[in-house]
Amino acid sequence: MPLIASPARTQAIINRYGLNVKKSLGQNFLTDANILEHIVKAADLSPKDDVIEIGPGIGSLTEFLAKNSHQVLAFEIDEQLIPILDETLSQYDNITILNQDILKANLPKVIKEHFEAGRPLKLVANLPYYITTPILMNVLQSGIHFDAITVMMQKEVADRLVAVPGTKAYGSLSIAVQYQTDCRVVFEVPRTAFIPQPNVDSAIITMTKREPFDPVPFDEKAFSKFVKGSFQHRRKSFWNNLLAIFGKDQEVKDRLTNVLNAVRISPQIRAEKLTIEQFIEMVNALHDEGL
Ligand code: SAM
Repeated sequence: MPLIASPARTQAIINRYGLNVKKSLGQNFLTDANILEHIVKAADLSPKDDVIEIGPGIGSLTEFLAKNSHQVLAFEIDEQLIPILDETLSQYDNITILNQDILKANLPKVIKEHFEAGRPLKLVANLPYYITTPILMNVLQSGIHFDAITVMMQKEVADRLVAVPGTKAYGSLSIAVQYQTDCRVVFEVPRTAFIPQPNVDSAIITMTKREPFDPVPFDEKAFSKFVKGSFQHRRKSFWNNLLAIFGKDQEVKDRLTNVLNAVRISPQIRAEKLTIEQFIEMVNALHDEGL
């Protein structure tokens, strides 16, 4: 059987099943086997690995994952794709497809039920672009240890994930991801590699768990809330964002001034210039000051 990932076979599958390809679910199917080879290489897959895939579509990436790993567990929200996947992937006995919305799935429970403990666990996916950020946040906050995360997304979102301080793309998403992972763009994928073609180019990102920062924030939820608040009004100074978060009472202003002095950060700076370490210092100093 030829690979699913070719323009001819993808189009043939769409035609044969009269598939109603749903833009609203981010359905863009990869048709370039070279790119899939690259993804598998970037994920550094081995026959020992168990793999979670999000959004198998008609199975083009799933097929490559099955060939290069121990077991694949894939979450697909679209019911109409389930019988198609049954057929396109029928020659592989190491794939389980769950007809579930990944944002509603109890990932730790499902992983425990399907995979034996002790194997390396990797996440590999061509993500549905309309929910890239919530999926990544859920995965990072799930507490599950992935040995590596290799995901395709809209290039503009990938740029935000890896952005460094002082750049336009740097913001709360960059910090949320870089707080937990070493994250890099492995390669870019042109829109012509998909059927149907999306309106944007894409990029593959790999993420691996990083060493915790030192010091750590006194509370991670407070840290993430503070970072989001600091970027609420991007064009305003850090000081004005602080006032928007904590209020404008003279007493609050005095305490904020103490905190900024203690951490040696200028009130006139823009939040986008601050490093993750500085945000951690700030949130800890605010806590010490009772704010
Ligand atoms: N993996 C296939 C490929 O590379 O050709 C398809 C990728 S396509 C960009 C995204 C897939 O995610 C679609 O199959 C879509 O139906 C599925 N999807 C969208 N929202 C989802 C959700 N909330 N949970 C699980 N799958 C979802």
